[in-house]
Amino acid sequence: MNKAFLLIFLIFSNLTGQKTSPKPKQNLISHYQLHIGVVTVGDQKIISLREFMQGNKTFLLVANPENLKTSLVPEEQCTGFQQGMVSIDKTFPESVYVKALKTVQKHEISLQDAGITSTFPKENGIVLSVDLCPSEKPLEKGLFVALMTNFKQNKEPIPVSVSITGHWMLNHKEDLNWMKFLEKTHRFDITWVNHSYSHRYIRSLPLQLNFMLMKQTDVRSEVLKNEIMMLENGLTPSVFFRFPGLVSSKNLIDTISGFGLITIGSDAWLAKGQKPHHGSIVLIHGNGNEPYGIHKFMELLKSKQSKIKDNSWKLYGLGNSLEEYFKPAP
Ligand SMILES: [Zn+2]
Repeated sequence: MNKAFLLIFLIFSNLTGQKTSPKPKQNLISHYQLHIGVVTVGDQKIISLREFMQGNKTFLLVANPENLKTSLVPEEQCTGFQQGMVSIDKTFPESVYVKALKTVQKHEISLQDAGITSTFPKENGIVLSVDLCPSEKPLEKGLFVALMTNFKQNKEPIPVSVSITGHWMLNHKEDLNWMKFLEKTHRFDITWVNHSYSHRYIRSLPLQLNFMLMKQTDVRSEVLKNEIMMLENGLTPSVFFRFPGLVSSKNLIDTISGFGLITIGSDAWLAKGQKPHHGSIVLIHGNGNEPYGIHKFMELLKSKQSKIKDNSWKLYGLGNSLEEYFKPAP
């Protein structure tokens, strides 16, 4: 992308970030509830996660058990609901979804960075995850622009995971619209990861009493309220959850798994000096609060420039990467 085009793109894209307007009534969601089990859509069995009403229509949030992609399906197209995680285990015992949840179960002991922290793509590259914890600062748009510049020869949208919070969405409507524009115009393939609604944090508290381990945390509300907000803003929640501060406990992870969500950590939090390797889930912050992480990622991109050009260093989508890990092609 040359400079003139980049400028035009940025100006144009700013125009697409419409001013905040009240949500149309038909976007509002009601009767939101867990609806975990197996349903049949057409002739295919898939995983059901949630049921809700939007306007006067009922929808299910469903997930493909192999590539983990989620979508919304009108309830009338879904038949034969078999309730519970047990039904999922029985119907899809060898699926990527079930294997991923079992892997999380094995890595739920530690206080920080439990869950799946890396994947193993067959080719070289990383999974990029960008966290949007609550912040007063604007989105790091330069990061997305740098990705577009570096991967400009790519025909496919650039895969990136964005871990989003309700409090960030409340304050950054225009930035959110800008990212949705990048997604809609196929520049990016965004996996929207639930990062809790309020992302509570008090600097003076020790980790074991902080973030979602803080007293009076309503875990169900933190998860479901954020999903509702994502849906009302036109984002489809993925099957993934990232704990604020990557801080969790066995109980918390069990609760999240019980909601049908796969806990994602990171083995390469760049601002903390962790070095990425092939298959790393790299963590940076796109909310303006951790410029050092963005700087480290820009350095990484620069060091891989020639490999990006000859396609020997890539970005992978979280779902695709896990699919490759758990179901390697023969
Ligand atoms: Zn966070």
